[in-house]
Amino acid sequence: MSAPHDHPPSSAVLPPPVLERVSDGIYSYVQPDGTWFINNCGFIVGPDQVVVIDTTSTESRTTAFIEAIRSVTDKPVTTVVNTHHHGDHTHGNYLFEGATIVGHRRCREVMMDAGRIVDYSAAFPGVEWGALQFRAPTMVFDGSLDLYAGDLKVELSDLGHVAHTTGDVLAWIEERRVLFAGDLVFHGGTPFALFGSIVGTIEAMDALEAYGAQVMVPGHGPVARGSAIKSALDDQRQYLSLVQEQAALGITAGRTPLEQARVTDLGRFAAWTDTERLVGNLHVAYREAGRNDEFTIEAAIGDMIHFNGGALPRCLA
Ligand SMILES: [Zn+2]
Repeated sequence: MSAPHDHPPSSAVLPPPVLERVSDGIYSYVQPDGTWFINNCGFIVGPDQVVVIDTTSTESRTTAFIEAIRSVTDKPVTTVVNTHHHGDHTHGNYLFEGATIVGHRRCREVMMDAGRIVDYSAAFPGVEWGALQFRAPTMVFDGSLDLYAGDLKVELSDLGHVAHTTGDVLAWIEERRVLFAGDLVFHGGTPFALFGSIVGTIEAMDALEAYGAQVMVPGHGPVARGSAIKSALDDQRQYLSLVQEQAALGITAGRTPLEQARVTDLGRFAAWTDTERLVGNLHVAYREAGRNDEFTIEAAIGDMIHFNGGALPRCLA
């Protein structure tokens, strides 16, 4: 008999990932429920090759993603784009043998500074990561880079500023008006700017809106279409503005980010997943208001755990 797990396997509690053709030859791969380390991917099938947008957090999840690709095409995956460095988008890079991994220059730099798969087992115990192997992007860019899947142009762009991370990449297929937004958008989930900027993430919403996409595949949460894109972006803006307002109140009142989080009424955003991210976001907003000299990512994560009454973030990956 095997020992009981602290967490049930995610397959027991979450619906399976959803593969969807969002345009001719363009697929989204949405993993419910979009919470910690459960991200979205996508791929574009050209006449000779496949371009993949992001991998996943664990060996088994990326293996399932590859099986989903294989259910559509047997053409080789020649290119994998990383929208940013976070493990849920990059851990599976190594499973795409022979593919060129493309990312932002800063994405590679952050990964190479770590030099290995970051060990999240303390903060996220119970996740079966599998036999992950470190693989950072080997082709990097600043500004923009156009890839082609046959005749179909996939335009990769940075924002020119820090947002979700220091090296966020958008993938835009203008001909089909499909936008892969990466973690600039958590659709139905709490945005997380701990590795980036609240100000920059708010600015990013304008950049995303300016594309005029008909289909937007977020980094987490369901695909948005048509007018739902603007409302998803507005929701992210309003949440992030609330964080800034609360930071200003907290600074005036002399409260720490954790203390301010405890008195913040999230209103309708309380229904979003991963609400403890408020604490990390407040740390960033305090820093951006010039009032958090002791800002560290570790301290912010520690405060998120305090906020949860000592419980680690719920992670079903
Ligand atoms: Zn991320």
